[in-house]
Amino acid sequence: MRRDTALSPPPLGAGPRTPAAELVGVSKVYPGGVAALREVTFSIERGEFVAIVGPSGSGKSTMLNLLGTLDVPTSGTVRVDGHDAGGLGDRRTSELRARAIGFVFQRFHLSQGVSALDNVADGLLYAGVPLRERRRRAEEALARVGLADRAHHRPHELSGGQMQRVAIARAVVGEPVLLLADEPTGALDSASGEAVLGLLRELNAAGSTVVVITHHHEVAAAPPRRIEVRDGRVVADVRQDGRARP
Ligand code: ADP
Ligand code: MG
Repeated sequence: MRRDTALSPPPLGAGPRTPAAELVGVSKVYPGGVAALREVTFSIERGEFVAIVGPSGSGKSTMLNLLGTLDVPTSGTVRVDGHDAGGLGDRRTSELRARAIGFVFQRFHLSQGVSALDNVADGLLYAGVPLRERRRRAEEALARVGLADRAHHRPHELSGGQMQRVAIARAVVGEPVLLLADEPTGALDSASGEAVLGLLRELNAAGSTVVVITHHHEVAAAPPRRIEVRDGRVVADVRQDGRARP
């Protein structure tokens, strides 16, 4: 299946300089009237490492779910890899998500009773890759997260930190444009959390675009870019070099 041609052609000029994702004037009001996001606009360039920080209930997960096309905005535009996610139908949105997005959750979301290798291989299920090739690429991805020797362990035979590394391998095995992680260290002790954040930084150094919600002090204090959210608004968007973004 030629998945890359299934989507509408990207806009003119798309390519290495197309932002990995953009929110333009995005608001999200949940049924019941909670305004989780209000007029949020920012762009994430390819190769960036962005930490999203803010108090509980400020709209961080809502933001990440919109970036990941798991949810749709009430108003405004979400673009992923140059595609207007709102302008695609359900099927094409699923294709875009499968091709362009890798998601990591606080509680790993691994399939129990299935080896680490096959959990990671499942990350390619919707990409139309044959099983043998899925497993071969899963092995490579496990090696990238330092778990080559745990390929045949099942989740209950792994530590929390190892489970999260398997989940990260699953998220990156399809080489997504955007790796999104919602409090990936939230269920881990601080040493494992540190290792997981270190791994995300390594993947970023190797070219992945990473957006991570974290309370973790180290990375939250000095990430290359930090977007701070309060009451559904971006109240700070700062690069490590101190320049506030326009
Ligand atoms: P954070 O991740 O920063 O803790 P969330 O994005 O999860 O914040 O939530 C932002 C606001 O939206 C909160 O007030 C929360 O209660 C509300 N909210 C989140 N998800 C839903 C939902 N599915 N239905 C209704 N309200 C929601
Ligand atoms: Mg959250």
